[in-house]
Amino acid sequence: MAKFEGYKDIYVFVEQKNGEIANVGYELISEARKLVASIPHMNYSVVGILLGHQIKDKAQDVIAHGADRVVVVDHELLKDYSTQFYADALTQVIQEFKPDSLLTGATVLGRDLAPRVAARINAGLTADATKIEMDPEKKDEALLLVTRPTFGGNLFGTIICPDTRPQMATIRPNVFAMDAADPSRSGEVIEFEPTFADTDAKVVVKEVIAKVVEGIDITKCDILVGAGRGAEHCLDLVQAVADELGGAMCCSRAVVDDGFADKAIQVGQTGKTVRPSLYIACGISGACQHVAGMDKSDMIIAINRDPQAEIFSVSNMGFVGNVEEVLPLLKEEIIAAKKA
Ligand SMILES: Cc1cc2nc3c(=O)[nH]c(=O)nc-3n(C[C@H](O)[C@H](O)[C@H](O)COP(=O)(O)OP(=O)(O)OC[C@H]3O[C@@H](n4cnc5c(N)ncnc54)[C@H](O)[C@@H]3O)c2cc1C
Repeated sequence: MAKFEGYKDIYVFVEQKNGEIANVGYELISEARKLVASIPHMNYSVVGILLGHQIKDKAQDVIAHGADRVVVVDHELLKDYSTQFYADALTQVIQEFKPDSLLTGATVLGRDLAPRVAARINAGLTADATKIEMDPEKKDEALLLVTRPTFGGNLFGTIICPDTRPQMATIRPNVFAMDAADPSRSGEVIEFEPTFADTDAKVVVKEVIAKVVEGIDITKCDILVGAGRGAEHCLDLVQAVADELGGAMCCSRAVVDDGFADKAIQVGQTGKTVRPSLYIACGISGACQHVAGMDKSDMIIAINRDPQAEIFSVSNMGFVGNVEEVLPLLKEEIIAAKKA
């Protein structure tokens, strides 16, 4: 008899707000597709879980992004996020369908929901993962190797949950790439009716006020020019280059700590994870906590006056020199290359 009888497939919690699906759900589905492809002998599927109210029509989008099946839990108590009702519903989905693994975005919602559900079902949860693989040594089970930064980002730990199911993990937005949607994909939509033992909300959300995000959302930018402490004295130049390239300025934590920039544009372990097509790191040392937030960028160009700076080890191209001298020249080169 299999060790975990009945537990199968990789499930992804697909977060939505007002019917709009957060990209992280699609990123996790894309990664889950790679995971199931790495264990063809297990014949696993990728299953999306969609909780909300009047969201059934979104199931096809989830399928288009790579899910083989979607479990839709449509209930008026799930219209807006509530820890109580979402945890009740997700727990019941797990008990009914027995996922072998369950991936959730490490968003504000996911960080609230996943640990609560894991505690209820006594499952192991790895939070804030940056890499997920299938253990190649295990041929008769789909054991996840989940890697996450630890000790302030100085080490990476790989965590396994061999004794409980589902294997749960939360993953930050932008860590994995999102595959393009294929509207012609077909899949199964399963409607699941939750039962709420107590429909009296313990916490009542009277009003949801959307946070007004001032400035640009760096996680959505295709070109980022990052300022480190070595560029603090010339942030105007960094901003001008970002504007010229049609991108945005972001920064390291040192720049935020020194009071030169808002935390909203900080990249890294305690900031945001970004994956633009171009990241120009200006006067950034390349500390692992910063690199964790930008090393998935398609092209990284670093400018640093120290030839030994760590940032060069993750860069596709590097310039040893003063930011103020190199950056304007680099900008001219990029503009000329774009015109050519
Ligand atoms: C738990 C924890 C979480 C953290 N989270 C984050 C995070 O999310 N994001 C983050 O960025 N950091 C984070 N850090 C901090 C991180 O460890 C580094 O301290 C920080 O990234 C350093 O920023 P920096 O490279 O800009 O500054 P510095 O380390 O001071 O490096 C400045 C660099 O600029 C170069 N330089 C100086 N002057 C010039 C010049 N004129 N021209 C060219 N180059 C020049 C120097 O050679 C040097 O390499 C975290 C730390 C901890 C412990």
